[in-house]
Amino acid sequence: MEKKNKLGVALVGLGKYATGELIPSLQITQNCYLAGLVSGSEEKKLKYQQEFGLKDESLYSYDDFDRIADNPDIDIVYVVLPNFMHAEYCIRAARAGKHVICEKPLAMNVDECYRVAEAVRQANVRFSMGYRLHFDPFNQEMMRLGQKEVFGPVKKLELLDSMDIGTETPWRVDRERAGGGPLVNNGIYCIQAAIYITGKLPVAVEARFAPVTNPDRFSEVEEGVIWTMFFEDGVTAHCETSYSKNQNLMRAEGSEGWFELNPAYEYKGLVGRTSSGAMDIEPVKQQARQMDDFARCIIENTETRVPIEMGIRDMQIIEAVYASARAGDRVEL
Ligand code: NDP
Repeated sequence: MEKKNKLGVALVGLGKYATGELIPSLQITQNCYLAGLVSGSEEKKLKYQQEFGLKDESLYSYDDFDRIADNPDIDIVYVVLPNFMHAEYCIRAARAGKHVICEKPLAMNVDECYRVAEAVRQANVRFSMGYRLHFDPFNQEMMRLGQKEVFGPVKKLELLDSMDIGTETPWRVDRERAGGGPLVNNGIYCIQAAIYITGKLPVAVEARFAPVTNPDRFSEVEEGVIWTMFFEDGVTAHCETSYSKNQNLMRAEGSEGWFELNPAYEYKGLVGRTSSGAMDIEPVKQQARQMDDFARCIIENTETRVPIEMGIRDMQIIEAVYASARAGDRVEL
């Protein structure tokens, strides 16, 4: 591939996240731009084609997606589909010779994650998870305060990410299409935060499912999960995720003080405080930073900070949390 200074991104799946966050973000990115669309909806493709002046040959359906291999304007394929389609489209994108960004969770289970990793390796393309919070300055400050032990070694974490999902996206409560409930959608951020604040991997988990208050809606996936992640030296992270309430807390207690974000996991409006006062941080558009960083990694041939291994690791922990909740017992990692 010739060396470019700006890379073309094709979005696969024009749902709420792609249209509400990624398309607007691609209007302000420096190292990449919107170059293609893959969708089952002609109407949506036409709307965005007209708005952003995209070429006819850069619009694809799911059936003719593999033709993207012949399109030199598209360097990166960003998979923004329901979870059950992630692995298939990441693998097809890699086989088409395109670099890939995949929304979380990487796939439906660890086996599928490994299949994606193998396809990426064989195709020799670059891969990034769509983990936007690694590019958010408030979350980056939590990483710094925790890993640098600014308030002493972190002893305890409280990580709550829940959202009342209503009925807007029915695939999220459908096991076949989502793979799981709030744990794979929101709880994954708590898992991430525990690791990036401590800078360590958990050694065990202990989980239980929250009581089901809406059995009609939550007949296939869990309504909520409450779990503890255990780290070495007695450090614990108490975590909770639910689809029937709203919570958005990331709090760490060190031996000499505390630091927290509330809200913590949102796209904007994050607020940070510490035991010594408020965090004074300028917010950024997380998704623009995330996509720019990956494009820069490709252009400059450097490593992304959100590689496929991180997506696999998180799925391994998710599977351990489910196994613990089902068994009612602690699971070692
Ligand atoms: P939506 O339901 O809003 O969009 C999914 C899109 O996928 C649909 O609009 C449709 O697009 C396409 N699609 C193709 N086949 C199907 C199918 N069988 N059922 C449903 N949709 C289908 O979901 P979101 O945009 O909220 O989520 C998409 C992905 O993004 C998920 O993996 C989610 O985890 C992730 N996400 C990440 C966020 C983050 O903060 N990083 C936030 C929100 C979501 P079309 O009509 O164009 O074919």
